[in-house]
Amino acid sequence: MHQKLLVYTDLDGTLLDHFSYSFAAAQPMLELLDENDIPVIPVTSKTRAELFNLRNDLNNHHPFIVENGAAVFIPKDYFPEIPSGCYSFNDFYCYQFSNPRSVYQELLNQVSAEFGDEFITFEQAGTQGIVDMTGLDQASAALANERDFSEPLSWTGSETRKQQFIRLLEDQGATILQGGRFLHVTGGCDKGKALKWLTDQFQQQNPDYRYTTLAAGDSHNDVAMLEAVDHAVLIRSPVHSAPDVTHPNIYKTEAFGPEGWAESLERLSKPFIQSTYSTKPLKAGE
Ligand SMILES: [Mg+2]
Repeated sequence: MHQKLLVYTDLDGTLLDHFSYSFAAAQPMLELLDENDIPVIPVTSKTRAELFNLRNDLNNHHPFIVENGAAVFIPKDYFPEIPSGCYSFNDFYCYQFSNPRSVYQELLNQVSAEFGDEFITFEQAGTQGIVDMTGLDQASAALANERDFSEPLSWTGSETRKQQFIRLLEDQGATILQGGRFLHVTGGCDKGKALKWLTDQFQQQNPDYRYTTLAAGDSHNDVAMLEAVDHAVLIRSPVHSAPDVTHPNIYKTEAFGPEGWAESLERLSKPFIQSTYSTKPLKAGE
């Protein structure tokens, strides 16, 4: 039985720097994993539209999970057979966990009489508002607003009121996920559920392999994902405290964002790496 590693990763604040969105510090490790045929699977609050671009930048050809686990996209030529329960979307098969975005926008309209002064949604903010809140450029902010399954919002009220707001929405059947910057209003999904579904697909479609799973994340919306894998990596954030994660195999990085990502993968991927790799030239005597 061949052992294979699957690397699931959050993007913002994890593989991408919280401030600059750069993954430069992780680039050598990404290349090493690619050379060793170890899939790196984005699991993000970002949208399908954002991922189409980012996958090109990352030179990544693997499946990806968008909008906090709302849907999984698998390239059509990726598995030997069509994964069950999927529909065709361009060059991908899509498995959907959540309702359409409009369901959650309608729910937010319903609670706006009571809480409307205490949050601003992506829909209300528009492209320029998203630029101001995130530091993304105009084109990237527009892609971030091309959502299919969820509505992000910036909470401006107190923590007590936020908990009341979350309870009210949850009573209406929504799922509320806290990311690094935003609250995400969606339903029936989290990153852990989508990750488990996709790992099952890998296992069913490649019965000669035995998969070990690793996931890296930095925020509350990553907890379900971190608790669903064999090796959890908690990436240190420069802007918020670490979420509580219960896991027997957890690695907490020293470095922030992509530097921490590279640090943890260098250590944890070692048993699955065949080719040689060194982050710096060895000095004489080392
Ligand atoms: Mg994050």
